[in-house]
Amino acid sequence: MPHAINPQSDRNQQLFERAARVIPGGVNSPVRAFKAVGGTPRFVARAQGAYFWDANGQRYIDYIGSWGPMILGHGHPAVVEAVQKAILEGFSFGAPTEREVELAEAILERVPSMDMVRLVSSGTEAGMSAIRLARGATGRSKIIKFEGCYHGHADALLVKAGSGLATFGNPTSSGVPPEVVQHTLVLEYNNLQQLEEAFVLHGKELACLIIEPIAGNMNFVRASVPFMRRCRELCTQYGALFIFDEVMTGFRVALGSAQAVYARDIPGFEPDITVMGKVIGGGMPLAAFGGKRAVMEHLAPIGTVYQAGTLSGNPVATACGLATLKEIGKPGFYEALSQKTQTLVQGLQGAADAAGVPFCGDSEGGMFGFFLFPELPQNYAKVMTTDNKRFNTLFHGMLDRGVYFAPALYEAGFMSAAHTDADIAETVAAAADVFKLL
Ligand SMILES: *Cc1c(COP(=O)(O)O)cnc(C)c1O
Repeated sequence: MPHAINPQSDRNQQLFERAARVIPGGVNSPVRAFKAVGGTPRFVARAQGAYFWDANGQRYIDYIGSWGPMILGHGHPAVVEAVQKAILEGFSFGAPTEREVELAEAILERVPSMDMVRLVSSGTEAGMSAIRLARGATGRSKIIKFEGCYHGHADALLVKAGSGLATFGNPTSSGVPPEVVQHTLVLEYNNLQQLEEAFVLHGKELACLIIEPIAGNMNFVRASVPFMRRCRELCTQYGALFIFDEVMTGFRVALGSAQAVYARDIPGFEPDITVMGKVIGGGMPLAAFGGKRAVMEHLAPIGTVYQAGTLSGNPVATACGLATLKEIGKPGFYEALSQKTQTLVQGLQGAADAAGVPFCGDSEGGMFGFFLFPELPQNYAKVMTTDNKRFNTLFHGMLDRGVYFAPALYEAGFMSAAHTDADIAETVAAAADVFKLL
């Protein structure tokens, strides 16, 4: 049954009003504000397993998991224990620790395209540093990104397509001077013809091409296998570095990450640089970028590309990340996680079909997306043709029934190992109810 809260005693609303007085928009990251869907953001009081409880004490089945990191669910005992132990040993030293080496080794062991890795504190920082590294290593300035892919909020990456094919982009944020994005070429995702044209025109000046292999910042859109193959070939041919932004997909879609998923179809497939975040920190601020030794050795202190961080490789964050990687490395982990995700997506499909609502969904490992379309979109422009009103009805209908999906139609969803068959059944039953309202 839908939750009913008396507006006078809605703690979420009270907190949101209080927050808005001291924090711009009341939030520390825009999507949390529910601007796209309307209504009051839920202030989280605590979380455990597959659930969180808001400031009113309402329980939600959480399909956000902090936007991906909480792959084990909240408060996994082994992770909590590792973090508690680490805290007692010290919060931060500004000097190297054994645990950083262990985490680097654990990442490299599972993602063999990387010989070396540098730890940082956020995906934004990792993506920004990877671009600088690619420019430093190649001595070139231009970069390619794709519309709808998010690589953090570094200036050069806050850019949308200009008018016409293979042109340089325009800033998507005020405060970013046009000169800063003049080297960023923005192309349509999965558009082979534009890709070919861009390399013919600019290939020899390209430092890198950066892509979200399975894009999770335009809901859930896979790069097609032929598109991915061609990205790899063109980068190699023109001497540009191929950067996989796996901040979301890393250890989320498979133990070997999205690059392992593409290697199933493209034998020997590897990116040159990989950007990681989210899952590798298990919910703590931790991210990384890595690649081949020859590329990574351009980084300071051995190379000329500067990069640094006071809290990089933080001892508590690395403990959390290591404990998380240990759990997800156990046999059968991804099979079980994938099964749950598929069960959810199929259940939602069944509920939509029964209500006669056009619907489709897709998933890989513990990441999923769904659309109010009869078939899967291939690019950002198509995703953004979603009927906002219907999406919002779906979102709020589910929220009222205790199911927390992403509060924006361009975001992916996340399953955790803590979600049970009963949680999934409860979600599907709620969806069956809500689809009738569409
Ligand atoms: C979340 C995300 C980022 C940014 O990471 P932050 O830790 O939020 O800075 C970059 N790239 C992708 C693909 C992401 O999903």
